[in-house]
Amino acid sequence: MAKIVIIGGSFGGLTTAFELKRLLGKKAEVTVFCDDDKFVFIPSLPWIAMGSRKAGDITLLLKPILERKGVTFVHEVAKGIDADASKVLTATREAPYDYLVIATGPHLAFEEVPGLGPEKGHTECIFTLEQAERANKAWNKFLETPGPLVTGSVQGVSCFGPPYEYAFEIDTELRRRKIRHKVPMVFVTSEPYVGHMGVGGLANSKRMMEDEFAKRDIKTMVSAAVEEIVPGEVRLKDGTRIPFGLSMFAPAMKGVPAVAHLGNPRGFIPVDGRYRHAKYKNVFCVGVAMAIAPPEQTPVPTGVPKTGYMTVRMAKTASAAIASDIIGSSPPAEIPIDVVCLMDMGDTAVYMKASPVLPPRQESVFREGIWFRWGKIGFERYFLWKMRNGLSGLP
Ligand SMILES: Cc1cc2nc3c(=O)[nH]c(=O)nc-3n(C[C@H](O)[C@H](O)[C@H](O)COP(=O)(O)OP(=O)(O)OC[C@H]3O[C@@H](n4cnc5c(N)ncnc54)[C@H](O)[C@@H]3O)c2cc1C
Repeated sequence: MAKIVIIGGSFGGLTTAFELKRLLGKKAEVTVFCDDDKFVFIPSLPWIAMGSRKAGDITLLLKPILERKGVTFVHEVAKGIDADASKVLTATREAPYDYLVIATGPHLAFEEVPGLGPEKGHTECIFTLEQAERANKAWNKFLETPGPLVTGSVQGVSCFGPPYEYAFEIDTELRRRKIRHKVPMVFVTSEPYVGHMGVGGLANSKRMMEDEFAKRDIKTMVSAAVEEIVPGEVRLKDGTRIPFGLSMFAPAMKGVPAVAHLGNPRGFIPVDGRYRHAKYKNVFCVGVAMAIAPPEQTPVPTGVPKTGYMTVRMAKTASAAIASDIIGSSPPAEIPIDVVCLMDMGDTAVYMKASPVLPPRQESVFREGIWFRWGKIGFERYFLWKMRNGLSGLP
């Protein structure tokens, strides 16, 4: 029986675990190591920050849903990987593997900008459940004495969608409360233009996003690099000072320390078209932890987003490749990664499709409509139901 170890219990790790069991059944002993005992539906974190979701609405305990499918769950942090000896190292054990799947997501690199982030700095973030819950408290406090609000993405960011969602949801909610006129809003981004999203834009995303920010009276600053953040003020490298009563910024990402030695200088792991490590052939990597080169050099550095949709596609291909190795069947086709994403905007939403994710593309769509918001709400329910029941084979 092949021993397969997966590190990470989110979009990448959970999907891989269910897929491997579906494809291999008793031919594989699958173990998931995760430092979180829950699966969190991360796309709903902006809604936690706005108060329209509670943690229990968007989380699933990993142990019962994995064990029901015959997967062992270990609630432990992986401290390192000895890839030459094929072992994962934790504080209590050395776990040998025949195959390893790394699905550890990102290290959020707040340390790269002085004053950035909720723990050691002065800005909120909505990238983890704890951060989003904290951001909700800050939002409720801010509503007592509204003032200037700054949001956006610092240099090196690759996950650009959440600050857009946050800005538009805040704008919608302030208008609903009839206090929008008390809140000057600035959207600061390292992108060369709004709607770039780290993928060189999609269809008419530049024009649509410029119109949307203008319509909502949100000032934008593009190709911006943040020098530092001090209490109540964002300081840009070009000398601009922007005051705030509330601020939320996306940080740049790196590979997590336990796996970074297998990756590029930022710790992201190079893989082939089936997500197999460039050097260690029994190591696979899916999701945010893997490396994708940006489509173009931007004046201020930006990275390529790896969305949940992309991560699930990667996990399915990697699982099929491992299964074909074990069974001895022909490997799965190498499918170019495309992306489908729904971005909430409070009172409307945008549907994005880029196929493949980086230009030149066969298909590129950026379309707005309230029904995409309903679709996003429906998808949240559907995905949580699918994961609760281990039905990774469904679309
Ligand atoms: C606010 C926000 C909104 C988003 N909205 C969307 C959206 O609308 N649509 C979309 O498609 N995508 C969206 N994304 C992107 C999506 O969430 C990611 O693509 C997805 O979470 C990536 O999954 P992953 O498994 O690669 O990594 P993650 O989800 O980051 O999971 C990594 C897992 O590894 C665990 N881990 C890390 N290090 C260790 C270790 N050393 N030992 C053990 N366990 C470890 C973590 O606890 C976690 O369980 C959003 C992202 C954010 C932050």
